[in-house]
Amino acid sequence: MSEASRLSEISTSLIRRMFEIVERARREGREIINLSIGEPDFRTDERIIEAACRAMREGYTHYTSNFGIPELRCAIAEMYGVEEDNVMVTAGASEALLNASLAFVEEGSEVIIPSPNFLSYFTYAKMCKAKIVQIRTHDNGFVLDPDRLNEVMSGNVSLIFVNYPNNPTGVVADWRNLKAVAEIAQDYGAIVVSDEIYDKIYYDSTPKSLAGFENVVVVNGFSKSLAMTGWRVGFVLAREDLLDSMLKVHQVNGVCAPAFAQKAVAEILQSGAFEEIVGRMVKEFRRRRDFIYSRLKKFYDVVKPEGAFYVFPNVRKNCLEFVEDLLIKAGIAVTPGVAFGEGNETYVRVSYATSMENLKIAMERWESYISQSEI
Ligand code: PMP
Repeated sequence: MSEASRLSEISTSLIRRMFEIVERARREGREIINLSIGEPDFRTDERIIEAACRAMREGYTHYTSNFGIPELRCAIAEMYGVEEDNVMVTAGASEALLNASLAFVEEGSEVIIPSPNFLSYFTYAKMCKAKIVQIRTHDNGFVLDPDRLNEVMSGNVSLIFVNYPNNPTGVVADWRNLKAVAEIAQDYGAIVVSDEIYDKIYYDSTPKSLAGFENVVVVNGFSKSLAMTGWRVGFVLAREDLLDSMLKVHQVNGVCAPAFAQKAVAEILQSGAFEEIVGRMVKEFRRRRDFIYSRLKKFYDVVKPEGAFYVFPNVRKNCLEFVEDLLIKAGIAVTPGVAFGEGNETYVRVSYATSMENLKIAMERWESYISQSEI
């Protein structure tokens, strides 16, 4: 028996290699500061934990409707000013992304992924046996330029992934650009998947949502905004007919998000504590963003992140060699740029989802690493 061909272009070698490098450094007795983390380092708020425990005792331990419990759908719909029928709760944003890909990507069609971008989009497109078209954004502040999109559009494009605030760069697209992307896609009958998972984690201008656009599927969730990655509560906002297509996948894939987790999130949204919980976290992320950006920009070209908790400097060296060297010599783990698409060979992703204390030590080590490598 051999692996199905839809998986043939999907590799896990980068993750394995990173793991091996970290293990080796640990075996050598190094204390590693991990700046490759993709989730908030904050505890889930106690009120959410309490609400979940209560919900479990009340019997929220079974399947729910595929669309999610009514109170959560309703609270999400209110947040966006859309109808409840346009909301589907999923087992995390990841499930929603796979559902959308399987629902709308025809085999052999083109999927547009601006680079750099979240690694999983490439995997979804490959699983659907699509042709991936990457649009580099490096000379446009890491934001997709609608003119460049227009150049590659055709009737063969099934889906376009956009993600702002962006993983790995932290940039936020301005509204004119984003709206233009949705309009271009509509002209060609393509679907835009707007992954807005970091929309509550921003420092400067407020990111706008593409919710409500005809051909846009908004994917979001509470993994990042409420520091709940392990709870698996995501959601999709889309036209009812698009949700019906995604339901065909969701009913056999995620089925439903955990009942008690849905109930706990609904209670937090209804109580008005959501903004307060995110606000506290964002305040701390902002302090770290300011610190890490000011230190990295002394040495590298780096676009100031306006959201999420990543920064993406150009280290002007082969990123795989750089990552290994930084780990071995400075005890700092970061993610190589090649994980995020074409044109990122000299970039690395630095996550500041770790304590300020760790960041300070990491930046001191990084600076002495730079001065030693220059000798
Ligand atoms: N989209 C982006 C851009 C992400 O960075 C992540 C998590 N790393 C996800 C989606 C997945 O989120 P979830 O935990 O809700 O599946």
